[in-house]
Amino acid sequence: MTTHTESSLRQLRESALEHLWVYNREPSDMAEKGEPNVFVSGKGVHVTNAEGETFIDGMSGLWLKNVGYGRTEIADAAYEQMLKLTYMPMGTTTEPTIRLAEKIAQITPGNLSRSFFTSGGSEANETAMKLTRAYFKRVGEPTRTKFISRKGSYHGATFGTLALGGSPLFPKGDYEPLMPGAFHVPQPNPYRCEFGGQTPEECAERCVNAIEDLIKFQGPDTVAAMVAEPVSSPMGAVVPGPNYWPLLRELCDRYGLLLIADEVITGFGRTGKMFACEHWGITPDIMTVAKGITSGYIPMGGAITSKPVSEAFIGSPRAAFRHVITFGGHPVAAAAALRNIQIMEDDGLVENSARMGAYLLDGLKELKEKHQMIGDVRGLGLFCGLEIVRDRNTKEYFPPESGMGDLLTRAFTENGLLLRGGDNMNVAPPLCVTSGEIDEIVSTMDRVFAQASKELGAE
Ligand code: PMP
Repeated sequence: MTTHTESSLRQLRESALEHLWVYNREPSDMAEKGEPNVFVSGKGVHVTNAEGETFIDGMSGLWLKNVGYGRTEIADAAYEQMLKLTYMPMGTTTEPTIRLAEKIAQITPGNLSRSFFTSGGSEANETAMKLTRAYFKRVGEPTRTKFISRKGSYHGATFGTLALGGSPLFPKGDYEPLMPGAFHVPQPNPYRCEFGGQTPEECAERCVNAIEDLIKFQGPDTVAAMVAEPVSSPMGAVVPGPNYWPLLRELCDRYGLLLIADEVITGFGRTGKMFACEHWGITPDIMTVAKGITSGYIPMGGAITSKPVSEAFIGSPRAAFRHVITFGGHPVAAAAALRNIQIMEDDGLVENSARMGAYLLDGLKELKEKHQMIGDVRGLGLFCGLEIVRDRNTKEYFPPESGMGDLLTRAFTENGLLLRGGDNMNVAPPLCVTSGEIDEIVSTMDRVFAQASKELGAE
């Protein structure tokens, strides 16, 4: 169904090019390519643009459309709450916000039990950073102010979280000087272990040893927290060896650091468990969430603290955590989140993520057998990643002037699949995806890689 005439769509695009900052894009480049692509509707794993073309969304928007598009129950829950009450300010709260905090305490691992709600993931991580520094002031260790995070990770767009990030996709040069006190260690990527680890376990162990070296070098009483995503997206769903998180937990305990797990992508079923930390049986001191908490039906995020962290802020009014996000815990967002989580539970979507994730990974492994340009394939649940290389032996990437990333993205789109091509790719369809839809994703990728290999001379 076409929803726009050619001229009304042209006018809409021109208006976007004139008035909108389309994230991470430059207007003249978009104009040349006839972009931006304007989308109008979605159902299940499919989205439709203003030309009436339908695509499979292989990325769940931005790793967030966990229950899929078009779930009217979430719209109904938000509508009902909108009719009742749409806001109450700091110092008060509302029933859906309390119920959501209670629900999250039930479904998160260990003693994670108190939620500070935000409007998104950057604010959730920024909140976790401020909580961490304030926590150490409360418990009498005020010199603990530094953060350790990993190269290749992304934690958000604000100044604090930008300092934590280390993704080449988000260069920091434009924004310097950055927040001081952030230090970076290698990403435990078994395919490219910076320390030459030959197995995922060996790579994990060496990466954790490097964190210990850094803590000792900085002075343990100056380091506040280690921040990491259980499975990291920017370098293509990097799944660490199974010993990484248990070793990290043990290391943080030994040196008195807080462990912050950024589950903004991995939370709410993405990896085949409700939270990815459950794969390794560990509980972080603070877990941050966003995206899948409402499946992106409405903005929301949160920093969830363990009992000992929360308790440092209890005892007298002066102990309170002084930090306010105006829209954090908005009752309409909370009502949508509660309904979203209920859908996940009723429809068994976490289990489907585990099952369909394994099926998708098998399909991607078969593609790797057929196409030389796929250097590595990995994943956990419906969070899969690929590394695209010019040479499998050297693991060398295609040079930027090859235009490989754009070429793949364009070819996927032309073949009805929304995926971003590049050196490191993610494949992460909604958790309601069926095996038939996965077959479609994999066969489309097969065709695109065959065609791209020819065009890039990579056969
Ligand atoms: N952490 C991770 C792991 C993310 O992937 C993102 C967003 N892609 C963020 C934090 C920031 O979240 P937001 O864009 O909602 O602020």
